[in-house]
Amino acid sequence: MNAPESTLITRLKIADRLPTPKGVALEVINLSQQENVSTQDIVRLIGTDPALSARVIQAAYALRSNSSMPLATITDAVTVLGVRALRQLVLSIAMISNYRKGPCRQFNYLNFWAHSLLTGIAAKHLAARARLYAAEEFFVLGLLANIGQLAMVTVYPEAYGELLERAKEMPLEALRNLERCQFGCDQVELSVAMLADMHFPEIFQALAQDFRQPACSTMVEGTRDWRLLQLLQVASMVAEACLSTTVARDALVNKLKLHAGRIDIGFEQLVEIGDACIRDWLDWLALLNMGKVHVPPFAELLKQPEAQLLEVPQWARGSLSMQRLCVLVVEDDRVTLECLQAMLIAAGHEVLAARDNLEAMQVVAQKQPQLVITGWKIPKLEGIALCSELRRSLREVYLLILATQENVDRLNEVFEAGVDDYLLKPVSQNLFFARLRAAGRVVRLQQELAFDREQLLRFSTDLAASNERLQELALTDMLTELPNRRCAMERLEQEWALAVRGSRTLSCMMVDIDHFKPINDKFGHQVGDEALKYVAKLLRQSARGQDVLCRYGGEEFVVICPDTGIKAACQCAERLRGNIAAELFKHQGGELRLTISIGVVEKNEATTCVEDLLAFADERMYAAKRAGRNRIAC
Ligand code: GH3
Ligand code: MG
Ligand code: MG
Repeated sequence: MNAPESTLITRLKIADRLPTPKGVALEVINLSQQENVSTQDIVRLIGTDPALSARVIQAAYALRSNSSMPLATITDAVTVLGVRALRQLVLSIAMISNYRKGPCRQFNYLNFWAHSLLTGIAAKHLAARARLYAAEEFFVLGLLANIGQLAMVTVYPEAYGELLERAKEMPLEALRNLERCQFGCDQVELSVAMLADMHFPEIFQALAQDFRQPACSTMVEGTRDWRLLQLLQVASMVAEACLSTTVARDALVNKLKLHAGRIDIGFEQLVEIGDACIRDWLDWLALLNMGKVHVPPFAELLKQPEAQLLEVPQWARGSLSMQRLCVLVVEDDRVTLECLQAMLIAAGHEVLAARDNLEAMQVVAQKQPQLVITGWKIPKLEGIALCSELRRSLREVYLLILATQENVDRLNEVFEAGVDDYLLKPVSQNLFFARLRAAGRVVRLQQELAFDREQLLRFSTDLAASNERLQELALTDMLTELPNRRCAMERLEQEWALAVRGSRTLSCMMVDIDHFKPINDKFGHQVGDEALKYVAKLLRQSARGQDVLCRYGGEEFVVICPDTGIKAACQCAERLRGNIAAELFKHQGGELRLTISIGVVEKNEATTCVEDLLAFADERMYAAKRAGRNRIAC
């Protein structure tokens, strides 16, 4: 890394402004970087975040290369992916989840991730096919290869937004120049620095440096690195082919064919890979709650539509993936239909056609278009009736009706039927694009609303899960993992109430480790803690299934014995004492024989409440101590 990058990245890091994963994801990434970390440690950590767990499993499912391997738990996911790929996957999921929205108005965050995801997916497929690199890892490279731009927009949302506005339509090199002038480094340099900072292999940094301008690369043609560079470049072009407008697509298709050929991929194979990418991409979008998009088959995407000659104003182009609409045109007049189709295709939208209402309803059932444009009078039905029927079944579809001057008097009926907008025939191209833009905005708002709703739902589910966990933590002693004093009191109250109601017996023991303080004094607190854990474990193993063992405080434990009289409780206490006395506690400084003293009581007339019971048990425990320790007192 050279000097300006390192200073910038250090500066941004110190200011805590670079995009980074947070919370459990961050812990997982740090942990998995340590040497000798066990898979179980990672599994346990991921398990503390239910939302992350679910996504890791689903993502591992989507990424695995061997489809016969079972995959239902985090452990399976780690086994299938390996710790390294898992770490990268967690990183990716965390980045997409945290940075899918942001304050920069001019930057399309969703489009950025849509492109990155597609590049990652295509990189995965290409790497798997070429057997040049672990496919799962190449996925992450594709995904994060341009992370520097996200960093810039995250750190400088306003300044970078203005810069984007100025750089509209400029080639990458010009944009990089502007970035360097204003921020002291450009998006590519920042991507490379960030990949280094995230401990990705050096080859990843070199590829991120060169893949968007491979002509400037110093890699030697034919070498492995060079082939990897070609892979990543083709992956990025596949992404572009899926997302760019039809207008820009023809140049791209020729380039794509040329570059795919260089890595021995023929056109048919390219189409196969493209289709696989689109399938995976839709799965990923669903997995990450990024909304639905309609993408035609890859071969169709590569076709050069006749409508290309049509002059489409810049503002009317559906250049952002999420704004590409799936449009159904219902019209029996061929000329109008073809004219609308041509304009829609030229603006980058997917077009479906129907000539009558029945056909329209069939298409709607299969494809769920986001926008329906219908004529006023279509065979077998009036346009107004079709609209009200559509509105009933598709609450969110945007409806546009084509009217003539004679229909103007009936427009109020049209809006009553649930239509959103109308256009007068003959359709003016400029007006049509303006109406389309409004429709696109409403559709996008609706998608965002649905997305927010889903987020909210997920958030409340996550919250419920973490509340449950917090509650569990509040009742657990962290050192011994036994129920704590608070839990002991609650449980004792419950058992007390049950015993009173059912006239049943209830006993309780107070257990205290003998001469515990000298262990701390002689061997240190650490050994003292281990001794506590050791005793807790042995007590748990020795107690009966129905007994409730809790850490009451310090080196004292309480055992609640429901439905147990004093005699059985004493037998049980004697077993606990005997088992502890029989074993040796081993620690790094040597071994020790520990003993315990126990006071046992049964609920009787003298005990009127839980506190009485505990006080008596405590008294007896001290009696056992006075009598010489390592004994029980009843
Ligand atoms: P006795 O046989 O009379 O019970 O003697 P003792 O030394 O066990 O009793 P004492 O109450 O004097 O000492 C208990 C010690 O337990 C004091 C405290 O430092 C230690 N202790 C309490 N909680 C913890 C803990 O969580 N970890 C460690 N290491 N020590 C603890
Ligand atoms: Mg003690
Ligand atoms: Mg004590």
